[in-house]
Amino acid sequence: MKPQYSSLAEIQRELAAGTTSCRQLVAYYLDNIERRNDELNVFLEVWADEARQQAQAVDEKLAAGTAGKLAGMVIGLKDVLAYQGHSLQSSSRILDGFKSLFTGTAVGRLLAEDAIFIGRQNCDEFAMGGSNENSAFGPVRNAQDPSRVPGGSSGGSAVAVQADMCLASIGSDTGGSVRQPAAFCGVIGLKPTYSRISRYGLVAFASSFDQIGPITHSVSDAALLLEVMAGPDGLDSTASEAPVPAYSELLTPAPQYRIGYLANAVNRAGLQPEVHEALENTLETLRGHGHVVEAVDFPLLDEMIPTYYILTTAEASSNLSRFDGVKYGYRAPDATDLESLYKKTRAQGFGPEVQRRIMLGTFVLSASYYDAYYTKAQRVRRLIKEKTNELLRQYDFLVLPTTPTTAFKLGEKQDPVSMYLADIFTVQASLAGVPAISIPAGTDAAGMPIGLQILSGDFREADLLAFAGTLTEPVAAN
Ligand code: GLN
Repeated sequence: MKPQYSSLAEIQRELAAGTTSCRQLVAYYLDNIERRNDELNVFLEVWADEARQQAQAVDEKLAAGTAGKLAGMVIGLKDVLAYQGHSLQSSSRILDGFKSLFTGTAVGRLLAEDAIFIGRQNCDEFAMGGSNENSAFGPVRNAQDPSRVPGGSSGGSAVAVQADMCLASIGSDTGGSVRQPAAFCGVIGLKPTYSRISRYGLVAFASSFDQIGPITHSVSDAALLLEVMAGPDGLDSTASEAPVPAYSELLTPAPQYRIGYLANAVNRAGLQPEVHEALENTLETLRGHGHVVEAVDFPLLDEMIPTYYILTTAEASSNLSRFDGVKYGYRAPDATDLESLYKKTRAQGFGPEVQRRIMLGTFVLSASYYDAYYTKAQRVRRLIKEKTNELLRQYDFLVLPTTPTTAFKLGEKQDPVSMYLADIFTVQASLAGVPAISIPAGTDAAGMPIGLQILSGDFREADLLAFAGTLTEPVAAN
């Protein structure tokens, strides 16, 4: 499934040569959406007229020499990002009819650099899930094999890039939601350091984990989108004040890196042999390139999933308490008093997975269990963070699979716990807050994409991207 364009650099060369225009690009992507959206269920809404108008405006700016950095980039937005005047539902019934009253910081920065938005993308409800089967609008399908899932929760965003319905997507990643669907769809997904990109205008799931991240075909586009979206923001007090490097100009790798891989993760039962092989091959290539590659053990591997699910459900139960039928979207029509309004609205408006997590989160925060679960999980998170940071001081990067298997079949994982366990490799970077990228690393026997993940120390995205660039197709270096 080769896209027509793999990077904005390629597109901008053609725009400069006059062999394409933003209007033509938008027409091309709209055509691809038209062709496959019914089958793949990627876009909940296509902003065709607006995208055409934006394209016209950017073409005029290009002619006048006043266009921004992202001129020519056609982007889709996951349904968790606020864009003023546009519907925003987190793929949930509870936000039926809701429209954003403002534009979030990251989205606003993209617009200011002349990105063109083509539509709103399907995802797991409130970004809770790993297969996109939890959307109130039905599942998204993997474009490589529509009987399989695209991953989640940013499944629509990954498939949109995979199926060439836009050049890039903006997703969100709490425990892997950008990286895991990117891996399942053979594209690149970057979760920046926690706090690198403002969360203002991102629907909150677990606020101490949530990060916005790009999904692209090339490392250079991931770098550019990060550069545009990152930076301090008076509207999000947790957004980092650290200056934003020009990531897109810092893609030259160092000649030698120290690379660690988690031996106990790799030798785990349940790892698909082809995923294991892809990792071994990559490690071999890296040794061949003269890097130092060493096995390390991560003692807290088994604690990772419980810690993540205790903390994120706790935060979610608090964040989602605002959806009560009074302030936003859906209101149960058959309520008789205030309490029944809350109960009925929430029972009818939230899907089963979201309800499960709210109940779990409420339970772990309840007075009798708070210390046993929430406080303890906070402590374990600190240990995971410290241990991860320690490794990332000894090594420039940690390399591990993004997922234990390639994309599974729709309906295959019925048991929620088995779905949670599939997050084993992505939650470490989320618990530690460090940046991580998933890059394509071949396919399995069924032709399904395999993803590899690279972690680096806090705020070392420039190095992470430069290194990732050496492991991706040459087109990515454009
Ligand atoms: N699959 C993970 C979960 O269900 C990750 C979700 C996310 O990153 N938003 O929580």
